[in-house]
Amino acid sequence: MSLLQKLLSIGMYNQQPKQIQQRQPQLNPDFKGVYRPVGNTLQEVYCPRCGSWECSHTQIPINVPGRVKTRYTANLNPFRPFTLVNKKEKVVQQGGTYYQHRFVCNKCGLIFM
Ligand SMILES: [Zn+2]
Repeated sequence: MSLLQKLLSIGMYNQQPKQIQQRQPQLNPDFKGVYRPVGNTLQEVYCPRCGSWECSHTQIPINVPGRVKTRYTANLNPFRPFTLVNKKEKVVQQGGTYYQHRFVCNKCGLIFM
């Protein structure tokens, strides 16, 4: 067995090094709608109901109610004999409105993610 054959058999000698193909995201130049990021690429957004490409970005408000945790502890204060329990309220979660990104179809008005 020659040296070349040895190298070929253990795969150390490549006559034609493999070319690493860089796949660039192919964006359709005719597409006039919006894109959604999927991993490192962009995906064309179509309406899931009517299939239209005429979609745009939108924000929808999400209302989050505040949450209050109420704790009752036995009253051990001798100077307040008519109070049986002490009520303590603690705000667990601040309520409010925040906005989430959605797509909206300009044809049928469907809002989707
Ligand atoms: Zn639609």
